[in-house]
Amino acid sequence: MNWREYVRKVDPYTPGEQPKSENVIKLNTNENPYGPSDKVKNCYSDLELLKKYPDPAASDLVDALADYHKVDPGQVFVGVGSDDVLGMAFMTFFNSDRPILFPDITYSFYPVWASLFGIPYRTMALTEDYSIRPEDYMQENGGVVFPNPNAPTAKLLDLTSVEEIIKANRDRIVIVDEAYVDFAPEGSSALPLVDRYDNLLVVRTYSKSRSMAGLRIGYAIGQKELIDCLQAVKYSYNSYTMNRPSILYGCAAVADEDYFRETISKIINTREWFVKELEELGYEVLPSSANFVFASPGNMSAEEVFLKAKEKGIYFRYFKQPRIERFLRITIGTDQEMKQVVQFLKDNCT
Ligand code: PMP
Repeated sequence: MNWREYVRKVDPYTPGEQPKSENVIKLNTNENPYGPSDKVKNCYSDLELLKKYPDPAASDLVDALADYHKVDPGQVFVGVGSDDVLGMAFMTFFNSDRPILFPDITYSFYPVWASLFGIPYRTMALTEDYSIRPEDYMQENGGVVFPNPNAPTAKLLDLTSVEEIIKANRDRIVIVDEAYVDFAPEGSSALPLVDRYDNLLVVRTYSKSRSMAGLRIGYAIGQKELIDCLQAVKYSYNSYTMNRPSILYGCAAVADEDYFRETISKIINTREWFVKELEELGYEVLPSSANFVFASPGNMSAEEVFLKAKEKGIYFRYFKQPRIERFLRITIGTDQEMKQVVQFLKDNCT
C-alpha cells in the first residue's frame, strides 16, 4: 500500500488567468473596473487589531447586509467570496443519493464541488438558444443550483420561471446563484421569494457589482432554518472565515448606495454600446444581463480571436468545450477599454 492510493483525487476548477502585468486590458474574470467606493477606501482599518481573532459570527457585516436587504440578521450567512458560500451550501444541503441538477453550460465550479463532496449530479442541456428550461428541473432530484443570470452565457431566467422551479421542488433546496443579478433589470432577483419559500437560498457576491473581488466577500440569504444549517457546517469546518478587514470594508461598501448605482449603470451603458458595436462587426451576441457578454465572431474562430487578443495584451475568456467553443466571454471594462477592444477587433478579427 502506498499513501498515494489514499489521496483524495480531484479535478480542480480552473480560474481565469491573472496576468502579472498591470499593462493589459483584463476582461477575462468579470471583475468590475471602477474599484470600491470611497467609503471603503477612506475607511480606517486598525492593523493593531489583527492580533485578535475576528468575530466568528461577523455580526457587523451580517447586520449591515440584513439591514440593506431588509431581512432578519438570522437570514444572512457570510463567507469568503460566494465560492466559499456555495461550497458550504453544497456540503450542507446536497446530501442525498439522488442527483442534484444544474445546467450543462454553467459555472464550472458546480461539478467540481459535487465531485469533491461525492454528490451525484446530472446536467440539464440548455435550449438551442442557451436558455434554462424550467421543466427540466421538475423531476426527481437531490437539489437544484443555477446562476441567474447564467454564466458564461449572461442570459437571465425570468423570475416567474425561477419561482416555478422553486415551487416544483418544495422538499429539496434550490440555490439561485445571483453573482451577476445587479446588472440585470430591476425585479430579476429571487430575494423577494425568500419569505415565501423555505427551500430557497439566494447567493450574492461583492466581487462583481461592488468591485471588491480582491477582498473575497460573498453571502447567502434564506430562511433562518437554512442559515442555521449552514452555520452548523461552517462551525464544524472553520469558525473564522471572515477576517477583520473584510468585515469592516464589507460594512462600508453597503453604506454607499449612490456609488453602487452609479457604477452599475455605467457598466450597463457600456455593455449596451459594446453589444451594438460587436453586432455591427458581425458578431453574434447572446442577450446579456450581466457585466460580461458571450459573443461569437462571424468569420473567425473564437479561439483564434482569443489568442490574437492575448498577444496584444487583451484578455478574454475562452472555453474549449462542446456547444460553446464558438463563443468568447468578454467582461465589460471602462468605456476606454471597450473602445480599444472594438478597434482591435475591427483591425484584426472581423
Ligand atoms: N458564481 C458565479 C456564477 C461566478 O461566475 C462566480 C465568479 N467566478 C462566482 C459565483 C464566485 O465569485 P466570488 O467567489 O468571487 O464571489
